Amino acid sequence: MAGPGWGPPRLDGFILTERLGSGTYATVYKAYAKKDTREVVAIKCVAKKSLNKASVENLLTEIEILKGIRHPHIVQLKDFQWDSDNIYLIMEFCAGGDLSRFIHTRRILPEKVARVFMQQLASALQFLHERNISHLDLKPQNILLSSLEKPHLKLADFGFAQHMSPWDEKHVLRGSPLYMAPEMVCQRQYDARVDLWSVGVILYEALFGQPPFASRSFLELEEKIRSNRVIELPLRPPLSRDCRDLLQRLLERDPSRRISFQDFFTHPWVDLEHMPSRESLARAVSRPTGMWRNKGMCGDVLSAPFGGEKTALVVEAVKKDQEGDPAAALSLYCKALDFFVPALHYEVDAQRKEAIKAKVGQYMSRAEELKVVISSSNEALLRQGTSARDLLREMARDKPRLLAALEVASAAMAKEEEASGDQDALDLYQQSLGELLLLLAGEPPGRRRELLHTEVQNLMARAEYLKEQVKMRESRWEAETLDKEGLSESVRSSCTLQ
Ligand code: ADP
Ligand code: MG
Repeated sequence: MAGPGWGPPRLDGFILTERLGSGTYATVYKAYAKKDTREVVAIKCVAKKSLNKASVENLLTEIEILKGIRHPHIVQLKDFQWDSDNIYLIMEFCAGGDLSRFIHTRRILPEKVARVFMQQLASALQFLHERNISHLDLKPQNILLSSLEKPHLKLADFGFAQHMSPWDEKHVLRGSPLYMAPEMVCQRQYDARVDLWSVGVILYEALFGQPPFASRSFLELEEKIRSNRVIELPLRPPLSRDCRDLLQRLLERDPSRRISFQDFFTHPWVDLEHMPSRESLARAVSRPTGMWRNKGMCGDVLSAPFGGEKTALVVEAVKKDQEGDPAAALSLYCKALDFFVPALHYEVDAQRKEAIKAKVGQYMSRAEELKVVISSSNEALLRQGTSARDLLREMARDKPRLLAALEVASAAMAKEEEASGDQDALDLYQQSLGELLLLLAGEPPGRRRELLHTEVQNLMARAEYLKEQVKMRESRWEAETLDKEGLSESVRSSCTLQ
């Protein structure tokens, strides 16, 4: 059985491990293929007894459809098996969790990020639309992310697609009404256009942090679904006109007035035609050759032009990296880059200039990787910290100064979510930390002191990380500017003249 408490089921050829999630009718496990490749997959176990005969048949049809589909933004179904209890869908593993978690750990997504995601989702929907397939259960929990490092959306959970109705034979609604088009909930009569409504809800939630019908009670929810009111968009955060226009046209209650699929795919904010292609993505993620972990990165050509200190920083960075201390390594790489980038300016020998540029590229991409590692562990910390933080705030009620400083820290976290809020966030972190450290010094031993201590550490880690990010962006900008000019012959010769 796939039920909780029973541990993962057994399946020939695979070792099932942790539970990745469960939804309306299935439990999904991470698994390894026993054979040579040890390929990591996700296995979705659907308990047969939770399905009636017709549903089993529909599920099998769905499996057949999905097996024939290959699309970069649709989760790939590799195979399926079954035994007396379960049906198993063996799928491509998505290491980045689902979009719901992704949004809520960040509170909201910047418009730019939402747009890239929306393009990816739209390209999956266009592909399905051309094949006359509707998903019918689009929601953030059913949209997965390939990885956190370079997140690509993967549309998943075709459990209701096309053939199955979200109403079961007992007329019980099985999906989430928060994401369902009003005509689906109210009239039970619907067509492919419900998917466009759900896309609108998903976009709304990504940008504003919660779906438009978010409610405290079922009654309130029902009222909102049944009402005829136009969906109002919050004024903050400020969004582009195109983005607001798209939201408004997707979230049109009347399906005949809702934006059409064609208009959605060509809407200026989606603009599928100009979406980065698979090739450009591949180019963007490919790493320069010369692997980090195998070889030292700073021998050869570079030892000559650089005196001790700069090279030493890199040696240290590599060492910290190998010792598994990403924060220290990142900080050292950034310090080293502070030297390398100006070095590029002054280097006159073309060959050495190229060598430095290659190294700078390598250090930057390693620094980028480390940044992701640190940011996701920081995020875990921040998430863990939420309840402790609430408690701390509760215990600070009689201390207005403490409360105010904690308020500033919250503002810093909020700022961090904004597209270009890093510097402001950093200032706020520093401001709040200054206060909190003073308060910590005067705080008598006890629970509140412990909580405050942990919080100060969290905030410091966060601020440290941001500082590196700001710095790195600056040096990347400089190197890129250089790259544009640096290669042209005229610049090269003018450098030689210096
Ligand atoms: P259900 O039909 O029961 O809703 P889903 O296919 O939506 O099942 O899967 C439930 C949850 O399991 C998802 O929300 C996601 O968190 C996780 N999950 C599903 N498929 C994968 C996958 N391929 N890789 C990683 N996690 C997955
Ligand atoms: Mg699901």
